[in-house]
Amino acid sequence: MTHQTKNEIHNSLIQGEQTPVEIIEEYLKRIEAQESEMHTFIEVTGESCLNEAKQVPKPITKEIVEDTPFVGIPVGIKDNINVKGFKTTAASKILENHISVYDATVVRKIKNAGGLIIGKTNMDEFAMGSSTETSCFYPTKNPINTKYTPGGSSGGSAASVRAGHCTVSLGSDTGGSVRQPASFCGVVGIRPTYGLVSRYGMLSFCSSLDQIGTIANDVDDAFSLLEVISGYDPKDSTSVNIEYQDLKEPEEISTFGICNEIEKLYIDPFVHDMYKKVIAILLKNFKKENHWLDNLDKAMAAYHIIADSEASSNLARYDGVRYGLQISGESSQEAYIKTRTQGFGAEVKRRILLGTYILSEEIEGSYYKQALCAKEKITEKLDQIFSSCQFMVIPTSLKLPFKFGERNDPLDMYYSDYLTIPSAIAGMPSVTIPVGCNENGFSAGIQIMGPKFSEKVLHSVAKLIEGELK
Ligand code: GLN
Repeated sequence: MTHQTKNEIHNSLIQGEQTPVEIIEEYLKRIEAQESEMHTFIEVTGESCLNEAKQVPKPITKEIVEDTPFVGIPVGIKDNINVKGFKTTAASKILENHISVYDATVVRKIKNAGGLIIGKTNMDEFAMGSSTETSCFYPTKNPINTKYTPGGSSGGSAASVRAGHCTVSLGSDTGGSVRQPASFCGVVGIRPTYGLVSRYGMLSFCSSLDQIGTIANDVDDAFSLLEVISGYDPKDSTSVNIEYQDLKEPEEISTFGICNEIEKLYIDPFVHDMYKKVIAILLKNFKKENHWLDNLDKAMAAYHIIADSEASSNLARYDGVRYGLQISGESSQEAYIKTRTQGFGAEVKRRILLGTYILSEEIEGSYYKQALCAKEKITEKLDQIFSSCQFMVIPTSLKLPFKFGERNDPLDMYYSDYLTIPSAIAGMPSVTIPVGCNENGFSAGIQIMGPKFSEKVLHSVAKLIEGELK
């Protein structure tokens, strides 16, 4: 019974066909049967989730569902987001035994909305990667075909939804880490506007870009979870004082944009066909405009300069004194070196080294400043595009899922985010939806991007496409 939606579960609960405990038992059974191969989770909450399910009010009524929209729904949380009493490892040896002492704001909100946390999902170490292969524990398998990666870094969050190990999940998206794995696993994934969702209680990678996003089997579930976790939080200084209900209503959507560069890039033929299919659907309802995004390659370079610089600074806190792994040495310097040498994996070290170099006095921050200029230019360009159209459509990933070990060259891996980075560095929202199904069972992810705070517009467009594809 995969691909279950929140509505399906609620209908079954309201009609008394199943109890919340039975629902959770069913999910846990499926996890137990598949987890040794699939590895969607780092930790499953098991008993605790069942106990929570026992507390759900009975009988469940429509009113209860209205008040607590995630009542009885199993939710997966990426392992870089704190859930009190459970591990938060960010899939790193340096935090292997770290237990969270508090709930992240998003987790508190999900619990208040009745959601039941079923597990902490696997990921690339500190969210650096595009395949979950950098997790220090194990890679997650793609449920569609286990020879393939589920994408990353929120690979566990996307795979767990697709495999029916949870109904919805949270991931984090710095440059594409919600959307790329969602597209690889054939599910829906949203990166919200920067500042709409609090990051209090999320482990920082690149603070100026990190956002928490949602993953679900359908468009409504993904946006419903986003609505629950959105809103101002004084505990996150980048949080914007706006509530989801106050976002712009999708009243006048007349025009969408496409990006001319897409035709010049090498795109998997199936992805290209599905992209064309979506454009054909949109043309029945809206006018089309052609735009040049320019600077797509510069966006990727700028992203890595900014992300590595901030990562080198953010990860300095893992010093063997305050959190996690602690290896002693003759001096504090030696202890620091030993802890970080053993605690971090190769990709994380590569980024810390690059980031430290970029910020070093030797080059006086010139790369960093240039990257910020590129970020500004890309944002200006997108602002200009969105002054004449209400949304844009582009593929999520240039290629379909790849097999384990297929992308050994880090640069090759970095290209996975080529089309997800622009909206990330502009702080703009984007949703990926699965389109079609090829002979191997894979869908193409197609992104709908919009200007800041256009989530409701994206919701209605994504829903329209989803409806047409049924
Ligand atoms: N795959 C990208 C990276 O490795 C994006 C990561 C992310 O969004 N967290 O940096």
